[in-house]
Amino acid sequence: MTNPEKICDLLKSSNNAYCDDCLGRFLEINRHEVRTITSSFGLTTEFEKTSTICPGQCSTREKLVTRYNSKLQSFVQAGR
Ligand SMILES: [Zn+2]
Repeated sequence: MTNPEKICDLLKSSNNAYCDDCLGRFLEINRHEVRTITSSFGLTTEFEKTSTICPGQCSTREKLVTRYNSKLQSFVQAGR
């Protein structure tokens, strides 16, 4: 499984939004690589990047997190 696939799977299954630091820690991927991957995810309609407090509780500051767009996914499935 490639690193983008690992991140994609984690975000889809967790139903939460995580910052690049947490994704890198959970999956043991270099943080710079995580940032590159989530940046490209953020360009798709499947994922969205927002600034909020990470549910991973790595920090109390607002951070840029990546979230899987589950509403879109259920909409897409309903249309099939
Ligand atoms: Zn975090």
